[in-house]
Amino acid sequence: MAIQLFVPSFRVEECLEEIRECLEKGWTGLGYKTVAFEDAWKKYTRLPYAHFLNSNTVGLQLALEILGRRMGWEPGDEVITTPLTFVSSNHAIVYNGFEPVFADVDDSLCLDPDSIRARITERTRAVMFVGIGGNTGKYTEVVKLCREKGIAIILDAAHMAGTRVGGRHVGHDADVTVFSFQAVKNLPTADSGMICFSNPQDDEEVRKLSWLGINKDTYARTAAQGAYKWMYDVERVGYKFHGNSIMAAIGLVQLKYLDRDNAYRRQLAEWYRNEFSGETNVRLIPMAPGIESATHLFQVRVSNRDELMLALNENEIYPGVHYRDNTEYSMYKSGNGNCPKAAKASQEILSLPMHMGITHEDVVTIASLVKKYAK
Ligand SMILES: *Cc1c(COP(=O)(O)O)cnc(C)c1O
Repeated sequence: MAIQLFVPSFRVEECLEEIRECLEKGWTGLGYKTVAFEDAWKKYTRLPYAHFLNSNTVGLQLALEILGRRMGWEPGDEVITTPLTFVSSNHAIVYNGFEPVFADVDDSLCLDPDSIRARITERTRAVMFVGIGGNTGKYTEVVKLCREKGIAIILDAAHMAGTRVGGRHVGHDADVTVFSFQAVKNLPTADSGMICFSNPQDDEEVRKLSWLGINKDTYARTAAQGAYKWMYDVERVGYKFHGNSIMAAIGLVQLKYLDRDNAYRRQLAEWYRNEFSGETNVRLIPMAPGIESATHLFQVRVSNRDELMLALNENEIYPGVHYRDNTEYSMYKSGNGNCPKAAKASQEILSLPMHMGITHEDVVTIASLVKKYAK
């Protein structure tokens, strides 16, 4: 039977029960389950603020807009970012009229603090850090560097739901952390995300901007009785980016199982690592010390990646690549050539099947084929 890279697993009956509550109550939109999910997320991560959105992508867009406005960033100001990411991280910079400046990655496939330091200019306003596969790489050093230089830190935590370092959930030391609950992430809904600012005004602002700029507080104050619902203020143009109660209902159920699922992911990763120990043709990605990774991905590096991919496909095993060096894309080609380690990784990395349906036997089968064909 074919083995896919990602297969989301849903607790179907429990999800349907939560969704049924929405349908019976007649409340499927913003509010109700979205509030319950935000509360549950804050409790789980111990992050002070959380706002539920319709994706991580819009969260990254809003993160830059809100930080930029508060801190007075100007068009053309620079955000240091990684070439090894899903394009959302970099598009979010462009949406806001800022300039993505690509820095290189280290062995963890996350941004290298030394490369960031070398790219800092007078116009650098923020660093976009992506925790690839749930790993943190040298994130702590990057935070330190950002604080030292007065640069904001945005954590794209799309792979990091449940990643803890030293027992603490990631995100507490970033200016803003954005999670993804897209269909194949390790906490899947269908499409949604969570934005967690560290500053209360930013959190207040994102609640308005994600709902067309509508200031709900105005009518909450003046018409708590339910009359005058149209008497809100709109201070500035906002977007339709907030999440809804159906997605939140699924998220609430999935969150209950997140730690259990992530523990199984770590088990799978350990099985893979054991299979590959001593293999010189299959290189592993080092984990940051003290980390309990969400392990959204299990990646290896080989020198004949494309050939290996085809050989695995012939055996009905379908791995993935996370990611192609973004500076190879036409729209980001200005950064091409500046990040040799990312460019090399982009040719070598392969993400092996990682989901709740994979068994130890599958790992052994996949690993033996990888070992057979890897060069
Ligand atoms: C999936 C992903 C995103 C985008 O998340 P959506 O919720 O689909 O918008 C952003 N960054 C990374 C690293 C991702 O993997």
